[in-house]
Amino acid sequence: MPDRIRRFLPFGWLAAVCLALSSFCAFGEDELIRFEGRQVQGGMIIGHAPAGSSVGVDGQPVLTTEDGRFLVAFPREQTDATTVTLTLPSGRRLERSLVPEGREFDIQRIDGLPQDQVTPPESVLERIRDDARQARQARERRDARADWVGGFDWPLTGPITGVYGSQRILNGQARNPHWGIDIAAPTGTPVRSPAPGVVTLAHPDMYFSGGTLFIDHGHRLVSAFLHLDAIHVEVGATVDRGEVVGTVGATGRATGPHLDWRMNLGDTRIDPALLVDWSDNPDAEPR
Ligand SMILES: [Zn+2]
Repeated sequence: MPDRIRRFLPFGWLAAVCLALSSFCAFGEDELIRFEGRQVQGGMIIGHAPAGSSVGVDGQPVLTTEDGRFLVAFPREQTDATTVTLTLPSGRRLERSLVPEGREFDIQRIDGLPQDQVTPPESVLERIRDDARQARQARERRDARADWVGGFDWPLTGPITGVYGSQRILNGQARNPHWGIDIAAPTGTPVRSPAPGVVTLAHPDMYFSGGTLFIDHGHRLVSAFLHLDAIHVEVGATVDRGEVVGTVGATGRATGPHLDWRMNLGDTRIDPALLVDWSDNPDAEPR
């Protein structure tokens, strides 16, 4: 074998192996994007991309932190893939498809109810529409703060009396799913902010949700607290993690004192129960 070819052989061999195992060669590319958190229906995960990348989720641009972190949420009903597109500072594009794991949600059928318990009376419809308008407006903020990076604490501890995603079918009509986690506690129990944030809504008495407080954690991630007895903060205030923002009540349509804690990433309602450490709430059944 001529010397020239023998010298070249090891490199040729390497190129051939690399070509054959192209998935192996793409491994370095996979390292550029990773996700943490539970990839399930109602879940939210944190993506990590190289700093300076632009990120799109299902074709919509999303905010990224300076070090390349971003949020992805999976709706309760989602069964197909979410597409995450990454454009690196070099201009190179990567794409990932994420399919959430399915969950079983509790469905309850109740028949034979008097109709006025199923549909709100005509006289309050305008008020309900106005409440919804205010809530929508408060969620329009698109804030670069990333107050979610440090994770979330329980706003208070106590037994869990309602869970995300459960649904009742009353007289054959499917109601909206229950979107929050209900934590039972006596009226007046302090409610603490689960993470830092900015107060974007503080309403003393909405029709369904009574005393209602929104805290925006940045990147369109918002915590909502419902049925509050008192609200201690005003719109525009910055709150710290653990700061008391109000107290538990039974205001609005509530059957007893509890906190209903909901979370949205933009328009997607997610399950706060997936973001907290259950060992911190000894009164709750582990999930
Ligand atoms: Zn509730």
